[in-house]
Amino acid sequence: MLSPNEKIAFILLVLVCGILAFQGFNRIFKTVRSGADADRSDNLIGRFITALFDVFLQKSIKNARPIVSLFHSFIFYAFSFYLLVNVNDVFEAYVDDWTTLGSDNILENLFNLFADIFSVLVLVGMVFFLYRRFVQKPKVMEFNANVKLHPGVSAGGLKKDSLIVGIFILVHVGSRWLGTAIRLAENGHTDPWLPTASIVSGLFTGWSSEALYTTGIHITWWLAMGLIVLFIPYFPRTKHIHLMIAPINLALGRKTHRGAMDGVSNPALPGARTLSDLPWPQVLDSWACIMCTRCHEVCPAHESGTPLSPSALEINKRYFINEQGNALFNGAGETALLDYAISEDAVWSCTTCYACIQVCPVGNEPMMDILEMRRNQVFDANMPNELADVLRSLDEQGNSFNESARRRSKWSKKLDFKLKDATKEPVKYLWYVGDFASFNQNCQDTTRKVAKVLTASGVDFGIMGKKEKSAGNDVRRTGEEGLFEVLAEQNIEAIEKCKFEEIFTTDPHTFNTLKNEYPNKGGNYPVKHYSTLLLELIQSGDIELKKKLEIKATYHDPCYLGRYNGIYDDPRDVMKLCGIDLVEMPRNKENSFCCGAGGGRVWLPDHDDMTQRPSENRIAEAVAVGVRHFIVACPKDMTMYADAVKTSGNEDNMAVKDMVDFVLEAMDLPEPIMEETASSDPNEEVSTEPQSEGLDL
Ligand code: SF4
Ligand code: SF4
Repeated sequence: MLSPNEKIAFILLVLVCGILAFQGFNRIFKTVRSGADADRSDNLIGRFITALFDVFLQKSIKNARPIVSLFHSFIFYAFSFYLLVNVNDVFEAYVDDWTTLGSDNILENLFNLFADIFSVLVLVGMVFFLYRRFVQKPKVMEFNANVKLHPGVSAGGLKKDSLIVGIFILVHVGSRWLGTAIRLAENGHTDPWLPTASIVSGLFTGWSSEALYTTGIHITWWLAMGLIVLFIPYFPRTKHIHLMIAPINLALGRKTHRGAMDGVSNPALPGARTLSDLPWPQVLDSWACIMCTRCHEVCPAHESGTPLSPSALEINKRYFINEQGNALFNGAGETALLDYAISEDAVWSCTTCYACIQVCPVGNEPMMDILEMRRNQVFDANMPNELADVLRSLDEQGNSFNESARRRSKWSKKLDFKLKDATKEPVKYLWYVGDFASFNQNCQDTTRKVAKVLTASGVDFGIMGKKEKSAGNDVRRTGEEGLFEVLAEQNIEAIEKCKFEEIFTTDPHTFNTLKNEYPNKGGNYPVKHYSTLLLELIQSGDIELKKKLEIKATYHDPCYLGRYNGIYDDPRDVMKLCGIDLVEMPRNKENSFCCGAGGGRVWLPDHDDMTQRPSENRIAEAVAVGVRHFIVACPKDMTMYADAVKTSGNEDNMAVKDMVDFVLEAMDLPEPIMEETASSDPNEEVSTEPQSEGLDL
């Protein structure tokens, strides 16, 4: 079909563009390789098969934005098929008599049919995305004004990139589609295997000369094929590269449990200061990023007005890499991430809720970058003063409340029955109480109710009292790896001295680190969250629920129980067995919205720019679903939401209750919990001795 000169010109174009594209891809490879070590070599074939399968089913993109995902799938399937179409079109151009048009071969006709339908789908999909980006301009695609952005992004680089990619796709696919229509018109007939091109061919019938048809066919061929070749060197510099990098990124993603952070690879210089300090898969993230902003749409820090946008972090990385060219892997990449990728305030705004990673369709992990940066900041003693004070308290006292270890079980003073000391006698369940449940006054009542429910049900359990220290989950997430190691070591030493069958805890943060991180430190124990334990005890009949509660309530999934550990049903089942009519909030289960306390945020003051606390945002969501009870299953949630109902003016509309409140109520026990009996010596260790005699349980 092409003239000899055109054939030579196309080959030359392919060669020039191929060399330029190779340089671009080579730069990506070398930049990624300059990142810190990370082993992703296990089960490589399985990783790629799973990733390709997931990509083919568009699995990861369906987590959010269903309409957008549908239109994206139009483009994805069409573009994938177009690889075949492009190869066919080159053969048509170079091989005499090679054509699928007018064929009576069923495979060739099916090929024509798919090419025809996919052409329309990709055009519709692309028009949708351009309309959305440039006419609708959804707010979720904007960044908070205080988010650090690369100058190229501030100058409108994202829109320019989207426009160039959008126009390229429209011209590439549209030209091919019109070219087919012109060829049908030239032949003077329509083709049932090319239904849409046949309709459009009506526009071209009756052209005055054969030469016009020939010119039209050549122009559309060059617009379709010449353009794609011209575009190849541009690929590595645009977000369109996600087509190739996303499947690789998904295949080479972290496969370890999401609740277990990787250890420090270089103890002499922990964490990440520069791009090349990040593990190489996190450098790769910046090319996989499609700049969709799904991550900051679900980010509680961004939603509440702070300068953190996980999306901006990935985009800034990419813009910086493009700007630096070869410098990054030639040893000149010494610029700190904090200078261009993210602000220091933003690093400390992350609640480690995992929502950004959960929602990202290409498997990016912006939260992991933040945690690596925190490690580096803490190593350099650069951290908010409030955090430094808490870490000092954790180091000196073993808890974040700067309380003497002897007062750890002070909460039990109000009980009038004996708790077993698990460090002295064997128990079936070792209750790892945790800092907040032990010391925070908003939580202590709940802690006592757990003790009462279990004691009333005849469960054999005990606590470690002053031998227990903070489990260290949030310490690790602030970046203080060394202190986490010390706490884990001391706790494991204490646990090892106890005789028990299982550990349980009410604190999802504690649960997470005991279950997922202590095994790597030598502490491998069966661990349960109390929601699971309560459910088992109810199902076995050990906990007897006598009363059906006729209450309508909503339940908040704690991040470290739900998103990190996949426990969604156990607390819900407990509530249902108590007779509660559960009404789900729109953001539930894996899409739950963080309370704002995780990752050490509970120890830090609100950011000055905060417009609404995440916890207040969540209470507003609960109010909107028409319930008056907000159920939590985490001591930190109790603290955050008890405060949020007051600060948001909902104290009279919404009661924040722990799950165990309802279990206790449904048990319909004859005796109320005793009122407080003050300790005479505030520094006295509250022992596991009974405080009064004769409570009838
Ligand atoms: S982990 Fe949560 S708070 Fe942190 S960046 Fe991701 S979505 Fe935002
Ligand atoms: S990191 Fe993932 S979710 Fe965030 S903008 Fe990039 S592709 Fe989208």
